[in-house]
This record gives sequence, structure tokens and C-alpha cells, in this order.
Amino acid sequence: MVATNPYRGMVSSLDYDEFDALCAAVAERRCRNLVGAGTLDEAADLWRPRPACPSCGFPDCARDGRTPAGRRRWRCPICGSAFSALTGTVLEYSKKELPVWERFVTCMCYNAPIDLIAEVCEIRHKTAFEWRHRVFATVDGYQDRLVLSGRVWIDELYLTDTDIVRSADFAQKRGLSKNKICIAVAIDAFKNAVVVICGHGKPSSKRIKDALLSHIAPGSVIVHDMERSHPALVKAARCTDEAYRADLNDPAYLEAMQFVNSLCSWLRRYLFRFPGMKKGNLQSYLNWFVYLFRVRRDEEKWPKTARVLRHLLMSDSCYRSSW
Ligand SMILES: [Zn+2]
Repeated sequence: MVATNPYRGMVSSLDYDEFDALCAAVAERRCRNLVGAGTLDEAADLWRPRPACPSCGFPDCARDGRTPAGRRRWRCPICGSAFSALTGTVLEYSKKELPVWERFVTCMCYNAPIDLIAEVCEIRHKTAFEWRHRVFATVDGYQDRLVLSGRVWIDELYLTDTDIVRSADFAQKRGLSKNKICIAVAIDAFKNAVVVICGHGKPSSKRIKDALLSHIAPGSVIVHDMERSHPALVKAARCTDEAYRADLNDPAYLEAMQFVNSLCSWLRRYLFRFPGMKKGNLQSYLNWFVYLFRVRRDEEKWPKTARVLRHLLMSDSCYRSSW
């Protein structure tokens, strides 16, 4: 026998406004159960308990009533600025509450299409698009400090540059031409990845060094496919190397390079989801890919949605609406 739901009668007797209020309360509760906070204020208390002054950086500010929007206000004793805990984060001007962001972030963790995200989160397409770039702003420069070590596999991946292909004087050239954007890819045995744009066409030694040198710890073993530019990187990074001639029929090559080849095919599949992407935004998409790669790697330790939300609250990121 199916147990009767004791709330059914109560819910069906509510009018539209009451029902909306109930839904909001339920969403808040559900979000609190999931990520530990149900509202943006709760999230701010949890993840930004003592916000530094966004104007001068002074760390020890005091509570000072509430902002006109009802958020807790802080005041800086040095420069006098008043601010909320969300000031200087990408959530500062959000008109939506945390449960909507929770759904949005969950969708972003699966790289769902913008139309689907807008539908699921009940926000406008334009808002969903803007939010995606707000999230991207928080991973801007994320890869700058990543350093791979131990065994490090490197490779390149090439994408057609649609800006060039669509231009009026475009002529298709054979082979790997300058029409392709080169993306340098590296991954180590700890599954730390680095994915950065590396100019057009096959990389020179200088380009591959510019792209990867700062991301590889000295003393590592660089595993690569004998691309001409690689030895200069190995030398400059003070590493040793293992090289395999790129040959898809050679089991030794496939086995040695499987790790980085898989990363390249995940990356390709990921990028195919954004066919209308502007080239100027490509590095942002790559940063998000690398960030998410790490979030997913650690998912058993840190549930991904809560981790990304916490990251959004803790990042002092400026969103530029030029996208
Ligand atoms: Zn200040």
C-alpha cells in the first residue's frame, strides 16, 4: 500500500502566491541539505566569514548593520568603505538566490548546453550565458600556478580557426596549416592537467616553451611523441624525456601516450559542445575544462557542486560584461 502524503491536502489548498513561497522555502531547504547553505547570506557566512575590504584589502573589518538590499554590511575602519560579504565576487549583483545558482553550477559541471541550463534553472537564455562567463571569470588565471611533476605527458591538439576559415580570402591548404589553432596539452601521473593555447600551426621551440615551461617541475620525465619542438622544452625545463614516434599502429606508442591521448579526446569532445564559441574566449573554456577536470578527480573527497559554489564565493573575481 502506498503511504498517503500528509502534505498533499495542504499543498493543493494553497493559492499561486502561497505555492510559490512554499516552493522557494523547499528549494532553500533542499539546497542547504545539499551544499550546507540555503541562501547567499548563509553561503557568505560559511565561506566568507570575515571578508577583507574590497577597496584597500584591510582584513579586519567590522559588522555595520545591513545594506539596502538586506544583506549584512561590513565597514572598513581604514578607508571607510561599506560593503557586503559578496562585494567583489561574481555573485555580488545576483538577483537570484543560492538554490538557482546550485542548479546552475550542477549543470555547468556537466557542461550542459545554455538552452538546457536556462530551462532547468528557469532563467533567461541571456542570463544563463552571462552567468557562464561569470563562472569563467573565477577560473581566469587558474592555470598560471599549476606545476606538473613526476611523469609528465605532453602533446598538441589542433582546432580549425573558424575566424580564418570564414574570412573572404581563405584558401584551404593541405596538411597541418597555419589555419589551425594549436593547443598544448600536458598531464602528469597525479592527473594534474594543463591546457593552453599555443599559437597557430605546428609549434616552434619558443612557442612550446612559452606555453609549458612554467608548468613543468625540474627533474620530471617528459613523455612525448618526438615533435621537433619538444627537445628544447625538455632541456629548458631541466628534465629527462621518453620519446615515442607518433604511429597509431604501434602498440608501444599507443600504450605510452594513452594518458595524454585520452585527455585530448575528452578535450575535443568538450570543445565540440560550444560550436559558436568566440576565439577570444577559447582560453576561458580551456581554463574551465582544467578546473573541472580537477574537481571531478577529487569528487569522492569533495562533492563537486558544493566545491564549485564555495570557489565562486571565495574568488575575488571581477566580471567584465564585454562577452
Ligand atoms: Zn578599506
